[in-house]
Amino acid sequence: MKSHSAIVGDAVTSHSSFTVESTAGDARAGQLSFDDTALETPNLFPVINFYAGGLEQSLFGGGIHRTMKEFMTGRGKLDLEACAEYFDAAMVSVSSLTDYGIPRDTFETYLETPIKERSEFSEFDGLLFVDSGGYKFLHDGELDGSDFEMEIDQRAVFDIQQQLGGDVLVNLDHPITPDDGYQTRVEKARKTAQNVAEFLRLSGDHKSVRYLTIHGYNYSMCDTFLSELTDILGPHLVRSCFDGIALGSLVPKKDNKGDLITAVSDCKEVLADYEFDDLPFHVLGISSSSIPLLIALGVDSFDSSSYIHAAINGKYHTSLTNTVPLDEASFEDCYCPVCSNPELRAWMRGDAEYKKDELGAVSMHNLIIQKDEVTRIRECIHDDGADGLAEYIESTVGRNKSMRRFAHRVINDSLGGYF
Ligand SMILES: [Zn+2]
Repeated sequence: MKSHSAIVGDAVTSHSSFTVESTAGDARAGQLSFDDTALETPNLFPVINFYAGGLEQSLFGGGIHRTMKEFMTGRGKLDLEACAEYFDAAMVSVSSLTDYGIPRDTFETYLETPIKERSEFSEFDGLLFVDSGGYKFLHDGELDGSDFEMEIDQRAVFDIQQQLGGDVLVNLDHPITPDDGYQTRVEKARKTAQNVAEFLRLSGDHKSVRYLTIHGYNYSMCDTFLSELTDILGPHLVRSCFDGIALGSLVPKKDNKGDLITAVSDCKEVLADYEFDDLPFHVLGISSSSIPLLIALGVDSFDSSSYIHAAINGKYHTSLTNTVPLDEASFEDCYCPVCSNPELRAWMRGDAEYKKDELGAVSMHNLIIQKDEVTRIRECIHDDGADGLAEYIESTVGRNKSMRRFAHRVINDSLGGYF
């Protein structure tokens, strides 16, 4: 399978492709490429605050985020090249730029040079996904600095995405909430569709991977969304202009596995009806224990900051689905480059100059556990097929009492049932 594509206006050929190399039931493994960056899928984009209030000398700051960037670039107190491989992808959100209450001149500094062209981040060569931050802008409608405010619309978001140098871009969307009634959802779909039209116009001459956001919790909601979009854009544009699909609005449902499974599998069905099923499929903001289940349903990528939130809450991952309190963790049992390093083990025990380093080391470990597990699932799809993936889910997620019925549902619905 190869995606695409010619674009609105002057035909610009996209430099991206998505190839499915193996399938296991509905799950698939392959490669998403843009220019000379190739990402194995399924995969996880860690959310990184590249810009978090500081300036060049502090890798643009951000406490734990700064420590993560030190692991990413090897520019920290420790020379840890071993961590670079875990940053084959990263996500940053436009809406996060002013999280640290920066003044306008700092904001302008951040936008001066694309992330991957900065000497501070020269070691990072992963696929950079720049999220539009629709969820936040839906409430605020603007970026709020310490001495400036900036109205946010589709054009403003696109300009910032460009300035950050994103490889993968999404339109500015109007996410739905579980409380929205039918009329509200249709209205939001229309507004998103208008943004999508603007997004296609703005991005026509630019080289980037363009993802379309979709919002819905079930078949009829996703179908309504795409039909509103088709009404505004026409069927040809809807089908020919995108390199990928991103399903959003699921964060309020993140702890309800049954609803998540329904939303993702119904959305996949609608995508097939609209002939979008050969495009890479991303689920926004959902990760950790849902990953194996959603991969089995056919999700190709995820983004998450859960590795950092877990660390901030004193949680140390022992697997994708399990954590233990940090003070009960036995670092000696972990093979990862963080836990294998005596100095970093000391940091995680609290013997660090700064709290950000103690928790930063834990969050790097958590990310490694998540990324390695995704790699294991990917290899399972390539090597072991549907039965192998079913066995994997049974022996991991299925071991967890509260998750077992969801594991069984996915195995039955997407992996051909029990062997
Ligand atoms: Zn570890």
